[in-house]
Amino acid sequence: MNESLVRFLIFFLSLIAFSTLEFFFQYRKRTQSRKSRWPANLAMIFIGGIAVKIALPTGMAVFSELASSKEIGLFNLFEMSFALELALSIIILDLLVYIQHVLTHKIDIFWRFHRVHHADTDLDTTSALRFHPIEILGSIAYKSFWVMVFGFSYETIFIFEIILNFMAMFNHSNIKLPHRLEKLLRLVIVTPQMHIMHHSIHQYESDRNYGFNLSIWDKLFGTYISDFSSEGVIGQLYYRACSEHKLWALLKLPFKKI
Ligand SMILES: [Zn+2]
Repeated sequence: MNESLVRFLIFFLSLIAFSTLEFFFQYRKRTQSRKSRWPANLAMIFIGGIAVKIALPTGMAVFSELASSKEIGLFNLFEMSFALELALSIIILDLLVYIQHVLTHKIDIFWRFHRVHHADTDLDTTSALRFHPIEILGSIAYKSFWVMVFGFSYETIFIFEIILNFMAMFNHSNIKLPHRLEKLLRLVIVTPQMHIMHHSIHQYESDRNYGFNLSIWDKLFGTYISDFSSEGVIGQLYYRACSEHKLWALLKLPFKKI
């Protein structure tokens, strides 16, 4: 089966599964209706997908093949089993994505685009799709650079991207997990109750819990918080009105004065 089709099917099934779970096990009351947020959030991932197809039709595979054919990149210099290479690559890629996320908050020009994601006033599985197309292209460029440095294989990138998309849709979802399961999962992975604090309206909380997959990076680098100390309002201070969350407003948001 075609790789793009596999990715789309996993994405589509995750969307149905998480939105169904949100319906039955809702964590927080919505402040805006799905109708006012979902069309723009879904359109953003659609536009982002088209932008990537135009900019890089064959995806990051081209960099992986280039690194392999030129025998550059750390993983092309050492012999190891596929399982070990995959495990190491996923851990390294996850750390790189954590660093990238910190940078998108700390560097003004990157934050302009990343705040489109943070302006969402509620968090649910569609929030994980709401990234500005330019941020998506920037993210592809960042990862492509590291693909050349480490020589990640095509299979590795394919599997990591599926895990990352699935986990982002999971940890943005509005699902209340049983308390014990939540605590247990959080020992290893980022849960919805852990990630939601990163979407706080207060910077002292949005500068925490940057991880997307493994929870270890925040704990290791001192950016972890276990609970809200604020009242737990989600979003950005200046983008509260429904009109700010229409598609065109989201596409223009990075170019507005902060
Ligand atoms: Zn963020």
